[in-house]
Amino acid sequence: MGVLRILVTGGAGYIGTHTLVEVLAAGHEAHVIDNLGNSRPAALARVRQLTNRGFGFTRADLRDQEAVAALVAGFRPEAVIHFAGLKAVGESVADPLGYFDNNVAGTLSLLRALRESACRRFVFSSSATVYGDPDYLPIDEDHPRRVANPYGRTKLQVEEILGDLARADPSWSIALLRYFNPVGAHPSGRIGEDPVGIPNNLMPFITQVATGRRAALNVFGTDYDTPDGTGVRDYIHVTDLARAHLAAVDWTVVDWTVVDGGDGAGRGCAAFNLGTGRGTSVLEMARAFEEVSGREIPLVRAPRRRGDVASCYADPGKALRELGWRAELGLAEMCASSWHWQSGNPEGYPEDEL
Ligand code: NAD
Ligand code: UDP
Repeated sequence: MGVLRILVTGGAGYIGTHTLVEVLAAGHEAHVIDNLGNSRPAALARVRQLTNRGFGFTRADLRDQEAVAALVAGFRPEAVIHFAGLKAVGESVADPLGYFDNNVAGTLSLLRALRESACRRFVFSSSATVYGDPDYLPIDEDHPRRVANPYGRTKLQVEEILGDLARADPSWSIALLRYFNPVGAHPSGRIGEDPVGIPNNLMPFITQVATGRRAALNVFGTDYDTPDGTGVRDYIHVTDLARAHLAAVDWTVVDWTVVDGGDGAGRGCAAFNLGTGRGTSVLEMARAFEEVSGREIPLVRAPRRRGDVASCYADPGKALRELGWRAELGLAEMCASSWHWQSGNPEGYPEDEL
């Protein structure tokens, strides 16, 4: 794949910054658009330091149609990686309109701007949440989609919109990347996950227990039908996830000199699971973290969390077959890098660092 101009929406966020590092390391030219609603300027500054590469940044909301149109006209992206979105399930239940507006209307605004441009390559951050309570494991891409909350519905709706778009205009190549449970941080410890307030997710909660910011880990449910009774998930290292985005961009670049039957047509719209294929329980994760960090993680039995499923893990075979990507990093690397980031930045990114 040659060098591309890649527009990265939500590039200041957790997965965006890690992907930006890989995009720049691969030699691509990048431009980030982010409203910094859930991220800090320091995150982007650190990506610049880590990569020693420049990239453009526009602080704007995706729903600002004029700003997005001007950016697309000026930067002329050849591919888009679309991370920008709100992602807190509980918040989406309390404020569904805010979620549909931000995630669905934000995406429509971006797509309208792209329609006026030549760019027809699009990589979307979807989620394993679109599978709901699984009928079977491991989950493949043909598993029925059903969602249990407004956040999940925004992902499903955007998937549907992108599918319709690709059917209407065959020049599109659209990858729907369904992430399982992203964890971990860049090995440098300079960028990582920086949740606001009390973390909802397991790994940031564990790391905050390890630094002493929280007293103990509440284990949500110990009577699931799983080997040790706690919830099982497919945790994936954010660096592996970041690399999958490069593989997906690569996939959107169709070389019709080697593919039969093409006349400028794109690949259409396809979904890919991004996971390791391996399930890990809450207790296994807590133990793995203790081993790597040398810190004790006190555990407290807590009731099941509403809406949680017992087990969820991917069949990642399609990503290997069609994107040539597979996860390479294991639990030890996930825990070690999370700990490196959190211990070096116990309060997350500094507010005043630029
Ligand atoms: P994040 O909140 O760290 O990053 C999202 C970024 O998008 C933030 O920097 C935020 O400021 C920006 N943003 C949000 N709405 C915007 C808007 N309307 N205009 C401009 N910028 C906007 O989240 P993340 O964990 O990096 O997730 C990235 C994407 O991946 C999201 O779409 C999320 O739903 C999806 N995803 C995340 C997970 C996960 O566990 N982290 C799992 C599955 C899917
Ligand atoms: N979990 C937990 N305590 C916490 C946070 C999460 O026991 O403080 C459990 C949760 O019930 C699930 C797993 O850890 O079984 C992963 O939860 P997370 O919120 O990280 O991801 P989800 O799969 O729910 O999106």
